[in-house]
This record gives sequence, C-alpha cells and structure tokens, in this order.
Amino acid sequence: MLVGVDWGGTKIEAIALAEDGRTIARLREVTPRSDYEACLATVASVVIKVEAEAGTTGTVGIGIPGSVDPATGLAKGASSTWLNGKPVEADLRRALGREVRIANDADCFAASEAVDGAGAGHNVVFAVILGSGAGAGVAVAGKAHHGPNNSAGEWGHNPLPRPDVTEIPGPACYCGRYGCLERWVSGWSFARDYHQHASIDMAPSEAPTPVEIVSRMREGDRLARLVWNRYVDRVARGLSVVVNTLDPDILVLGGGMANVDELYDDLSYRLADETFSPCFYTPIVRAAHGDSSGVRGAAWLWR
Ligand SMILES: [Zn+2]
Repeated sequence: MLVGVDWGGTKIEAIALAEDGRTIARLREVTPRSDYEACLATVASVVIKVEAEAGTTGTVGIGIPGSVDPATGLAKGASSTWLNGKPVEADLRRALGREVRIANDADCFAASEAVDGAGAGHNVVFAVILGSGAGAGVAVAGKAHHGPNNSAGEWGHNPLPRPDVTEIPGPACYCGRYGCLERWVSGWSFARDYHQHASIDMAPSEAPTPVEIVSRMREGDRLARLVWNRYVDRVARGLSVVVNTLDPDILVLGGGMANVDELYDDLSYRLADETFSPCFYTPIVRAAHGDSSGVRGAAWLWR
C-alpha cells in the first residue's frame, strides 16, 4: 500500500492507495498555519489515521509547498514561508518514525497526471496549477523531474515574458521579486485584475470570485471578457517559454482556473501565436484527478 500526504497551505490531506491506484482510504485536516511543529504532528496523525482505516501500513510520500535543498536538506522556496530553512525531511522522518520521500507539491501533481491521469502515455508532461497560487511540475517517463537544485518546474517564479508598460515592474511576490508569473496567472490574480478595473469604490469583500467573473463574461459583460482575454494572453506568454525551451508532449492544467471550459481553445489559439515554432500541435488538457492529483502523486513517490 502507498500512502500519500499533500501538505498544503490550507489543508493537509492523506490518501492510501492500492498498488493499482485504487483509493483505500483518505482524509483531510486543516493546516495549522504558521505552526511548523503542529504541521509535523498533523502530517503524522493523518498518516496513522488512514493506515488504521486501511488496516495496514504503507510507504509514505509527502508533497510539500516548497522544495528541499539537496545538499543541506533544508526547505526552500515555500509559499508557506515559515517552512523555509527547516530540516523538513529529517523532521518528518522523526515524526513518522520511518523513511519518507518528499517532493514539491506541483511535482507530485505532474507525476500523478503522468502516471494514470491526463498525461498518461506521454513522455514529457508539463503540468500547471492555476489555482489560488500558480505553480508547475515536469514529469518524464512517469516520474517527477527535479534537477540538481530541486527546482524543475518553478515556472511560477519566472518573470512574465514580453511585459507591456503597465506590467512593469509587476506585483510583489513572496519570493522577494516583482512580476513573477504566479502573480499574474493565479485565479486570485485574475480576480484582482477585474476588481481593479470594475470599480475603485468596491470593497474587497464585494469583489467577485473568478467563477463569478467567468459567469459574467458568458453573460456578455465586456469588462469580464477583456480581463479574461488578458488573463489567457498572460498564461500563453508564460507557457510560450516552456514550449520554446522544452516542447513538452502535453500540457496538463489543474487548479480552479482549469475548470473554465473556454481556457483550452483560447489558450491553444494564443499559444500558437506566442511560440517561436509556426506550428503548434501540443495538446492542452484538464487534469484528470482534479484536487486529488497532489496527494496521489505523493503516494506515487514510492512507485
Ligand atoms: Zn516569485
């Protein structure tokens, strides 16, 4: 049996998978934000609970919202910034009393989709999460590719390519830079863009969600359409660099924005314009496992 844990910014989820990918047990708990020790205890507790429900123990893979410095073992680049600098792998091993494998959560997402999801059968899978934040992972032959710095797929912290004058320097990012893609292509950024143009008097609490903005667009709201077009254009500019550099066999999209049906055709159309190659045949598809991809990919770390 394979146990996977998705240590997210808002929830910590565990799943117990059979070798064939069947779900045996799963549960989720709220992340004790900003409390590292409490997070370690919650991770250990969800593992014990799913194993109790499954009636057996398994290997444990954990997806974390950051990555580990391969030389020092210390967490780095985590959006849950209080994780950074902590010996997360050693601490999880201690908390669970056994060997664990850990990886970046977006890498787990990519591996999950590559193994038995929307990217199955494709050699190089580039998987992008367009959710409350934005991130990506690269899987090759069904396994997450990490690289010597454990930083493959940190696409969200590249700058937005070909910015216009209104996009410089861009919004501040938690990584300390300005104009990172994450700050342009998340669902939150889409909503922010609409809110900025909708009304300067609108209180943040009245601001429409991405789902509401898309629904307004479908009803003919001109501003929603303009903001959507600009959003797609930014995602396309961001992904054009990936296609020009890696030319992955497939692009898999996850996160809340991946639920917008219009994204696939609109993005293919814009990407065809943005890439260096005059032809563009890359399939762009929705993640098959939805919200479960991260936790499934964590379990697959022992596959
Ligand atoms: Zn950044």
